[in-house]
Amino acid sequence: MTFAASTYRAYSQLPRDVQTLLRDRLPMTLSTGERAAPTAPAAKAASSKATTVTLRNVSKTYANGTQALADVSLQVKRGDFLFITGPSGSGKSTLLKLLYGHEQPTGGEVIVNDVTVSSLRGNRLAHLRRRIGVVFQDYKLIPRRTVSENVAFVLWAQGFTRREINRRLWPTLKMVGLQGKAQCFPEQLSGGEQQRVSIARAVVSTPPLLLADEPTGNLDPDNSLQVIKILKKLNSIGITVLVTTHDEHLVRLSNHPVIQLRNGILHHVRR
Ligand code: ADP
Repeated sequence: MTFAASTYRAYSQLPRDVQTLLRDRLPMTLSTGERAAPTAPAAKAASSKATTVTLRNVSKTYANGTQALADVSLQVKRGDFLFITGPSGSGKSTLLKLLYGHEQPTGGEVIVNDVTVSSLRGNRLAHLRRRIGVVFQDYKLIPRRTVSENVAFVLWAQGFTRREINRRLWPTLKMVGLQGKAQCFPEQLSGGEQQRVSIARAVVSTPPLLLADEPTGNLDPDNSLQVIKILKKLNSIGITVLVTTHDEHLVRLSNHPVIQLRNGILHHVRR
């Protein structure tokens, strides 16, 4: 079996929500099981272009009439670390979904890396998404795959060589403190460890932008702090980080800029 065929088979056997998470990170050719062309590491591509996020008068009203965001304007510069706070239902997830093109704005403009996200389709949207790491509250790990396999999966699928995968895998696992758990399965890990696997997966291909949607939502205070420390470490090596949280305490423990959403309206809390 060819490399790409085995990758495709592994992909097609994944639970549906995991497929949804990974689909747009994979080359289009994988949907037909063809061989994927190796992708250059994102950090290299990133070095030529500043990563910035711009929202210009963005509104989002869902099909059922719920207005999630109203006239939101925001600029995030390359290398920033931004907390997005607000109560449940205030529009935090929606804002992140607009950034990685999972939802489209109903008004205004969303620009990531100098391109208007809503203008992208197909390969160009997939390309943008491969340069954005995403971390979710519920981890979305592949259940019957080890920690190593979970982290390496996106690299395999993007056609990285085994040597390159190993070169990236071990430092990434070390960075999240999981080198000793590489052969464990998700169910053998604590919630904090599972979240650290999902962070490793999000950054192993060195995306210049990391979006973390309530990454500490299921964690106790100690594990939450550990996750935030890892996100800060990633920020210190140049990754732009946007984190949503409704945990005000966590936000108070650091001095990064904070915006707050209330009923879809943005307020600057700390610049
Ligand atoms: P938060 O992340 O702050 O909890 P969300 O962005 O998930 O907020 O949701 C903002 C508002 O949009 C809420 O009222 C929510 O019910 C609504 N909403 C979110 N997703 C959808 C959807 N797919 N369809 C309809 N309404 C939605």
